[in-house]
Amino acid sequence: MDVVFSVIIPVFNEEAIIGELHRRLTAVMNSLGEPYELLFINDGSRDGSLAGMREMVGRDPHVRVLDFARNFGHQIAITAGMDHARGQAVVIIDADLQDPPEVIPELVARWREGYQVVYAVRARREGETFFKKATASLFYRLIRRITNVDIPVDTGDFRLMDRQVVDALGTIREKHRFVRGLVSWVGFRQVGVPYVRHERMAGETKYPLKKMLKFAFDGITSFSFLPLQMATYLGFAVSGLSFLVICWVLFQKLIGRQPLEPGWASVMTAVLFLGGVQLITIGLIGEYVGRIYDEVKERPLYILNEELGVAASAPSRVRA
Ligand code: UDP
Ligand code: MG
Repeated sequence: MDVVFSVIIPVFNEEAIIGELHRRLTAVMNSLGEPYELLFINDGSRDGSLAGMREMVGRDPHVRVLDFARNFGHQIAITAGMDHARGQAVVIIDADLQDPPEVIPELVARWREGYQVVYAVRARREGETFFKKATASLFYRLIRRITNVDIPVDTGDFRLMDRQVVDALGTIREKHRFVRGLVSWVGFRQVGVPYVRHERMAGETKYPLKKMLKFAFDGITSFSFLPLQMATYLGFAVSGLSFLVICWVLFQKLIGRQPLEPGWASVMTAVLFLGGVQLITIGLIGEYVGRIYDEVKERPLYILNEELGVAASAPSRVRA
């Protein structure tokens, strides 16, 4: 029988959680009464996660596993999941049970009403640091302002997508992926469902500050030229200011009553300030150039080490 629901779960060092995750997902998916698959993506875990998944494949025919050759990152992992999912509706959910599987039936209900993307909106976030919540909140509002894509605020990757949407996303192969932005970009009928985001069940966040910053910058550069435009504005502002200072200096030099002092302080200030502005600007351009470089190399998005579970022998729609 054809699979109706695919659940995509990216996993990076989550050995303490996957047993409980499997139990809760199974209960929820069974309650829906349609054929389903649980598609785990092992994103280069270095703990016992893969062993745990292998064991699950052995006893549950619903489970499939894609094992990456190394850690490629969360956004790439969910992309691989979408490439390999076979369901009519595809759900993305975090492995750490911050997104409760029990919300899935609500997403499915809206899908049955005809919505092609049903995204879960974090009405409340429990057990996360003030810093994480504050920066996340700021980021979602910033990206919404500076892009012309309608990206909903306080929404992660926890969502359900219709087959049509997943197929459309499959045609987008850009490297620095901000998946939730791409889902907004493709369009279709979309609706949000509020939920309470819980505390991580066990283990630590797999998004340290460095990854979070990269993720935020990928999101912004994928959908906006504003940083480059800001560099231009800054250039004009600084040039305008410089012009005024130059006029003043010339005036003093030519018709000022007193000769100019050596002026070490003013020269240093100007040099350092301009140097800083130039470096920031070059850095911004570099961010975009680096991303262009990554695109033209045309490397595949990910490399699979192994595929386990029902479809391991059947050809899947790999479009790496
Ligand atoms: N994850 C992944 N690869 C990574 C980092 C994270 O597959 O390089 C997975 C992780 O196992 C989890 C999900 O992505 O299922 C979200 O990560 P996490 O919960 O650590 O992020 P947070 O909720 O703290 O933002
Ligand atoms: Mg989490």
